[in-house]
Amino acid sequence: MTDCYVTIIGGGVIGTAVAYELSQVIDNDTICLLERNRNFPGENQTARNSGVIHAGIYYDKLHSPLKAHLCVEGNRLLYQFCRDHNIPSNQTGKLVVATSAKEDEFLDYLLSRSQENGVPNVKKISGGQAGELEPNVKAYSALWVPTSGIVEPTSVIRKLRNLADLGEYFLLGTEVVDIIPQDEEFVVKASTIGTGNYEFSTKYVINAAGLHSDEIARMVNPGFPFEIFPVRGEFAKFYQSGGHLKVSRNVYPAPTFYRKPDGSDHLTVGVHLTPSFSAGLQGDFAQDKGLFQLGREITVGPLNRKKGDEVGKDDFGSDLAPPSGFLEKIKQYFPKIALDDLQLHQTGIQAVLANSKDFHIAPDEIHPNMINLVGICSPGLTSSLAIAKMVKDFLE
Ligand SMILES: Cc1cc2nc3c(=O)[nH]c(=O)nc-3n(C[C@H](O)[C@H](O)[C@H](O)COP(=O)(O)OP(=O)(O)OC[C@H]3O[C@@H](n4cnc5c(N)ncnc54)[C@H](O)[C@@H]3O)c2cc1C
Repeated sequence: MTDCYVTIIGGGVIGTAVAYELSQVIDNDTICLLERNRNFPGENQTARNSGVIHAGIYYDKLHSPLKAHLCVEGNRLLYQFCRDHNIPSNQTGKLVVATSAKEDEFLDYLLSRSQENGVPNVKKISGGQAGELEPNVKAYSALWVPTSGIVEPTSVIRKLRNLADLGEYFLLGTEVVDIIPQDEEFVVKASTIGTGNYEFSTKYVINAAGLHSDEIARMVNPGFPFEIFPVRGEFAKFYQSGGHLKVSRNVYPAPTFYRKPDGSDHLTVGVHLTPSFSAGLQGDFAQDKGLFQLGREITVGPLNRKKGDEVGKDDFGSDLAPPSGFLEKIKQYFPKIALDDLQLHQTGIQAVLANSKDFHIAPDEIHPNMINLVGICSPGLTSSLAIAKMVKDFLE
């Protein structure tokens, strides 16, 4: 008899979404979740991202089939979840802006990818039409992506945690330090702040440990082949102090591509503008006909730093790019902004896979009662509820 039927490692949006999904089909007192942060939601990818609900236009089905599918499915599920539970979200739509004929070609490429992925109602529009939607944006042409939007991520995981209702089995300040596979179960060794070390047995392990999920996977199977490299995204912000800085939708530059030797495309989404919700309304958001009101703050980012630039898994703050770095990236398509308008905002670190372009979501090859969720970088927030359903299907 095991101590705990299902053990989830990690209390970010993926771990809490899995806890919620499983609590719909098995007794919630057979599930435990271990999160090493003392506070919830604490420091993790979920609390430090752009809050964009992606539509699914960027991912190619050949090299990123899970991202291509789960983003579109997760987009639909996340809006529905936000509507059902009164969570701050707004389907703002998004403009992907080309500033030249060369960039316009990238939009055609993205348009065909959107169609392959089944993203609804994406269309190419002229610079003039883009200007009607966003008067302060300078565009040669644009893609209009109506299913993109924004969400307040910490409200999502608070709600997921409440609905999963694991009570004392949602253990904060608890780090998994080792996992020993045995014949029919696993022995999990953990350390809780203030309590010390202990161990317990479990039938299933769900590895949702974000930046550390590759290390957790190797505790069970030292030959686990994927490795995470941390990519730090830095953000700036500005306030809409006057009509010339007004932005009402997600605004992205045309992505840049290059083709890698394996035939896959390396694509950079680029430094974008993202509206936020009204400040100071945490927990009591203003709502107007199902759409939460937008605030004055616009975030700008991410500017990405990689391991090669010596950014570790916990390095949120060293050697940050100055506001001029952000201005450089956005002035082409948002020309009325000045350096003085920008100030540094926050950073977040993504769990990107070094040797794959996709999420890795699969049972371990040697111990299939462990489900690994590794490399859940963007669009992981958007995909979270669809990922949780996939985990439930594995267990079923
Ligand atoms: C800068 C940035 C921008 C992004 N923008 C977007 C966006 O706009 N839209 C979108 O869809 N996605 C976006 N993402 C991606 C999204 O945030 C992530 O995919 C998602 O939050 C991943 O959730 P997670 O639960 O897997 O990981 P995390 O949120 O990182 O949670 C993992 C948890 O595991 C815990 N943990 C680790 N090791 C252990 C251990 N040994 N024992 C116990 N607990 C442990 C950690 O403390 C952490 O809380 C962005 C990410 C970043 C960083």
